[in-house]
Amino acid sequence: MIERNLPIFVTGHRGMVGSALVRRLSSAGFTDVLTATRSELDLREQAAVDAWFDAHRPAYVIHAAGTVGGIQANSTRPAEFLYDNLMIHATVLQAAYRTGVEKLLYLGSSCIYPRDCPQPIKEEYLLTGPLEKTNEAYAVAKIAGLKSCEAYRKQYGCRFISAMPTNLYGPNDNFDLTSSHVVPALIRKFHEAKVSNASHVPVWGSGRPKREFLHVDDLADACLFLMNEYEGDSTINVGSGEDLTIAELAGLIRDAVCPGVEIRFDASMPDGTPRKLLDVSKLHALGWRHRTPLNEGLASAYEWYCSRLPVAA
Ligand code: GDP
Repeated sequence: MIERNLPIFVTGHRGMVGSALVRRLSSAGFTDVLTATRSELDLREQAAVDAWFDAHRPAYVIHAAGTVGGIQANSTRPAEFLYDNLMIHATVLQAAYRTGVEKLLYLGSSCIYPRDCPQPIKEEYLLTGPLEKTNEAYAVAKIAGLKSCEAYRKQYGCRFISAMPTNLYGPNDNFDLTSSHVVPALIRKFHEAKVSNASHVPVWGSGRPKREFLHVDDLADACLFLMNEYEGDSTINVGSGEDLTIAELAGLIRDAVCPGVEIRFDASMPDGTPRKLLDVSKLHALGWRHRTPLNEGLASAYEWYCSRLPVAA
């Protein structure tokens, strides 16, 4: 078990994952949750990260920071995604090793598995085939992070573990239509269709790709569980174990936000990888399962989105 009175550093606490982690740790009674904003600490700068670790001496680290985005951001800004993510894990892992951090959890992403690997995706399929082109740069950087955890464990005996979350959604998601993932994008598009009384909503691609989704509060709960229970040197998938087509997802969000509006697929936009469903049997065998059903999670994500909209004057 990790100690709730020792300092635990959550990187990327302003993001969707980091903020969910801070909420979960606080509710679990952690009394010393450390965070740093981007202006206080640039995680791409080794000297700054070293100085920060020397000053704050975290006992634990959950490394949730990263430059992330949906299919369009990934395919148009590959250099940024590669550079930022490579640097961000390299600096933090090195500082954690040097200052003797007791345990670190690194978060990967399901999109780093090979594009055409068998479904559901088992952990051992990593690096067994070519990557999906639309997020190759991001994937290469995240794979390096994951392998770094194994390398630090092997060479120095560091207790660095990694987990591989599926597609996430929830509070503090990115709702910007050019860089967001599909769930926040569709929540926003259907909401705007409702407000403007539009006749249809454009949904990218064919609607046929299948995706799995997990509420970010469930991920945060799984992270705490793994910090307490998992000591393996290979990564572990975190997902719901259930997937649906983008057309089905669009239907669910339409029914929750703007029933009756027509869904129009835009075949000029990319589909990305055809299917991405994680095999979560390893996590289930350890005793953890997700709690939030997709329809409930989508309804609460929509509620959160509405609560953040500017109030009309
Ligand atoms: P991916 O899982 O890495 O492919 O990332 P996304 O969440 O961005 O996209 C998942 C799927 O949803 C892809 O097939 C997209 O083409 C599809 N999609 C449909 N409409 C949208 C949209 O408005 N925004 C995004 N980001 N994806 C969409």
